[in-house]
Amino acid sequence: MLDRQGIGMTSLRTRERMLTRLANQGICSPQVLEAMRNVPRHIFMDEALASRAYEDTALPIGFNQTISQPFSVARMTELLSGTGKLASVLEIGTGCGYQTAVLAHIFKKVYSVERILALHKKAQMHLWDLKLTNVSLMYGDGHLGWADYAPFDAIIVTAAPVDVPQQLLVQLAIGGSMVIPVGISGKQVLQRITRTVNRYEYEDLEEVSFVPFQMGKE
Ligand code: SAH
Repeated sequence: MLDRQGIGMTSLRTRERMLTRLANQGICSPQVLEAMRNVPRHIFMDEALASRAYEDTALPIGFNQTISQPFSVARMTELLSGTGKLASVLEIGTGCGYQTAVLAHIFKKVYSVERILALHKKAQMHLWDLKLTNVSLMYGDGHLGWADYAPFDAIIVTAAPVDVPQQLLVQLAIGGSMVIPVGISGKQVLQRITRTVNRYEYEDLEEVSFVPFQMGKE
């Protein structure tokens, strides 16, 4: 098994290859690519899988959950940051904290909610290791958003509900957007919802595959 340091040394090279691949797949925001260059994805996974960290695939992180594939992270971050409103973002589904760390390089303040206590704690450790001080994590049910810090310039949901949770719509700032996979397993569509002064505009983007959004805490 490779040790962390060994992976660390090869990771810069493999991370550069990941960035080239993302650019070839159509990610063109220099800010997003730079954020992904700055986040060592391999530290977010168990040692046994760390050598595969830069492959373009979702990988298991325990508790039947996955770390999102690099393309999804880049694509959703690009969709969210395009508005130029970058003061605050709410993430639902912290998982191991990788997407959270990428967001922390772009948004001034990141709030992230996770319903599985062990993952919430894991993410806290990883983000602490990276000394990302502009991130606040909460153990809770993402259906309710995080009202204390609303409204948010951007909201990203990294698990798929059947319908968009109402509280998330309420907590979106005017001029802000939410990116969310919606639908049942195998039939999800990535939606971007933009809030204007008097309504919500919905755009259906590509088909995606995310773990299901679940009720309550675990
Ligand atoms: N953002 C992560 C993706 C993790 S997978 C990454 O960067 O890789 C999606 C996560 O959403 C899982 O950890 C799952 O437990 C969490 N989740 C599902 N339903 C949720 C809910 N209602 N509230 C909060 N988190 C939820």
